[in-house]
Amino acid sequence: MNASPPNAADRLRIVLVGTQHPGNIGSAARAMKTMGLRQLVLVAPEKAPDRDTHAMAAGADDLVEAAPVFATLAEAVADCRWVLGATARSRRIQLEQLHPREAARRAVAATASGPVALVFGRERTGLDNEELQLCHATVHIPSDPGFSSLNLAAAVQVVSYELRCALLGEEAGAVGAAWTPPPGEGAASHAELEGLFGQLAETLEQIDFHKGRAPESAMRKLRRLYLRANLDSAEVRLLRGVLADAQRMARLAGEASGNAKIG
Ligand code: SAH
Repeated sequence: MNASPPNAADRLRIVLVGTQHPGNIGSAARAMKTMGLRQLVLVAPEKAPDRDTHAMAAGADDLVEAAPVFATLAEAVADCRWVLGATARSRRIQLEQLHPREAARRAVAATASGPVALVFGRERTGLDNEELQLCHATVHIPSDPGFSSLNLAAAVQVVSYELRCALLGEEAGAVGAAWTPPPGEGAASHAELEGLFGQLAETLEQIDFHKGRAPESAMRKLRRLYLRANLDSAEVRLLRGVLADAQRMARLAGEASGNAKIG
């Protein structure tokens, strides 16, 4: 389902205010482009985009080249219907603070009436109070309060990802909702599962399961089956016990037929 208004992505504007490291402009452009966003706007960057910008953009240079540069935030958002300021910490300023998911949902909905801006601050000092006054609300990525400040481009990535999910009309987190952790002692470790698969491969050889066919295809399917079963450690031990008995029987059968030939 695509719940977003037409051209919604083109009405979502990422505004970088007073960026200090030109490399971050490139990284932010890349973060946006991977999420299908294109409207990058710069406000009074400390240094103009340079070689570092292009190195970090890694193919998103077109966004940087097309980015208008304004002297003030007020000019950059003059035509916007909704302006959201991204902040690393809560301020005294009395603005509604939104979770990125809710912010993205509302931002995409607001594109129905015009452009919407998501504003990111300086690496060292963030957005100043005057700039925050221009915002209708703030968005805060719920980081560790003891170390709350993400790299500028990383913050752009997280918010852009949420915007993309909102644009696609996806319920973030719905994937894997049916998964339940295994009961009992908990999921088997990677090493335990690989031990099981190793013994299973050996056993299939010993009981001549493949009959001349390449073993890889059967093993791939069996791995998928057992991984889907979400086994716990006790279940892995049970299966390995079954395999051990099958191996013992195969050995006995081999010995018996050997004896029969000798006898
Ligand atoms: N030292 C600055 C942090 C600047 S990080 C301060 O305390 O404000 C650069 C920009 O990245 C911030 O202005 C903000 O727009 C964004 N950012 C960083 N961490 C964030 C977070 N946890 N939530 C939302 N935005 C964040």
